[in-house]
Amino acid sequence: MQSGLRGGLRRGLRLLFPPQCISCGGAVAEEFGLCPDCWRDTGFIRGLACDKCGTPLPGEADGRAEFCDDCLTIARPWDRGRAVLVYRDTGRRLVLALKHGDRQDLARPLAGWLAASAAPILLPGMLVTPIPLHWRRFLKRRFNQSALLSGALARLAGLDHCPDLLQRTRATPSQEGRGRHERFENMAEAIRVNPARGARLAGRSVLIVDDVMTSGATFAAAADALQAAGAGSVSILALARVAKDG
Ligand SMILES: [Zn+2]
Ligand SMILES: [Zn+2]
Repeated sequence: MQSGLRGGLRRGLRLLFPPQCISCGGAVAEEFGLCPDCWRDTGFIRGLACDKCGTPLPGEADGRAEFCDDCLTIARPWDRGRAVLVYRDTGRRLVLALKHGDRQDLARPLAGWLAASAAPILLPGMLVTPIPLHWRRFLKRRFNQSALLSGALARLAGLDHCPDLLQRTRATPSQEGRGRHERFENMAEAIRVNPARGARLAGRSVLIVDDVMTSGATFAAAADALQAAGAGSVSILALARVAKDG
């Protein structure tokens, strides 16, 4: 009876508020989905991807770990990594909408995509944590978009979430317009493990979640801090990967 009532309510609501594409607002069949046009423009990373950063690679996946040129030449102090989409077109729009556009409702559909992309690198008992914002930026924005993603992913994957495992030690100037070397210098030792959370960490594998990976300098600073504080394995997951030629 109750579920019948709930089903009726849902049908009624659907008439009043038909499901909309999460990117353009166009009509879609299912809630929390993309319309066919936006889907095509989203740049989902499927098939072969770099096992450290998730960037798409040419060729077919055959079960062996492959690495992109960047990950072969730059120190990546983590074990494995994935990214859901390439940072362009619809993918870029969704990232910006989550960060600046008052679209926290996106976290739920995005978490489903994150879970699917991260499936090969998730480990039982993994602790999920976001890249932190500096507290001053957090007060200004009132939420950390990466924590929205990591929290929704952890819930979906049945893993523990620790939103304040990592902390910024200082406010870093924007990475915008900086070369790779500068980005790494800018981020060096800018992230530490929260002293109050260190005990949760001992020997545990950790998944660090961020909205965008560009050079990897932020993930490297976070992974260095986790390794130094005694984490087991450390892996990374980005919603969007800035592709070299994109
Ligand atoms: Zn659309
Ligand atoms: Zn890579």
